[in-house]
Amino acid sequence: MAAGWNRDHVSRGITQGGKISQETFIDTYDPSVLRRVQYMLYEIKWSNNKKPWQSCCHSTRTEHAEIHFIEDVFQEQRSDPSAHCSITWYMSWSPCGDCCKEIRDFLKDQPNVNLVIYVARIYWHKEETNRQGLRSLVNIGVTIRVMDLPVYRYCWRTFVDDEDKYEDYWPRHFAPWIMLYSLELQSILQNIPSCLEISSGENQTPVFSLCVENDQQKRALTSANP
Ligand SMILES: [Zn+2]
Repeated sequence: MAAGWNRDHVSRGITQGGKISQETFIDTYDPSVLRRVQYMLYEIKWSNNKKPWQSCCHSTRTEHAEIHFIEDVFQEQRSDPSAHCSITWYMSWSPCGDCCKEIRDFLKDQPNVNLVIYVARIYWHKEETNRQGLRSLVNIGVTIRVMDLPVYRYCWRTFVDDEDKYEDYWPRHFAPWIMLYSLELQSILQNIPSCLEISSGENQTPVFSLCVENDQQKRALTSANP
């Protein structure tokens, strides 16, 4: 990693080799709890280079992970500007409205870059600026998806530190939250009212529920069923 970097973005639960520890991954990517720090596992593939660059970072008190990626990681990894570049982010929280704006500006400056974002949870999902931000990314060709079980397994195999790692990771108990967040993402992208309620249960654990109040939401639910 480059010397000029702000090390604060790789200080918690990330190894020297740029992998995430098993405990940190299990804890921070669990969609059924709401953790404060935002993690990002990223993969950069250049058309002129077979080996992808894969590493991890997290937000700090003052800067979200996306800004660190755009301002530090990408600048460092950038090779021939004419080469095509595919970037994939696996994020514990989706980008906020402010970061979506920065991501748009970044992609405008980098026409050879395409971006795919997987998210474990949607950040302040009822805030209109965040909803609008996600729509604006999809409108310029960014792909946004909720992490499903095969994606969790892929991240486990690719980004989690090998020391003491279980053979495999298939957190099937995440399935209901994956479904709720997928429906919510669908309602955001279709620009209809929120379907997801998150309230505080016992011991401040979040309780997730689905609220379907109007015809638009019902239609979104029906169309979300494969
Ligand atoms: Zn942000």
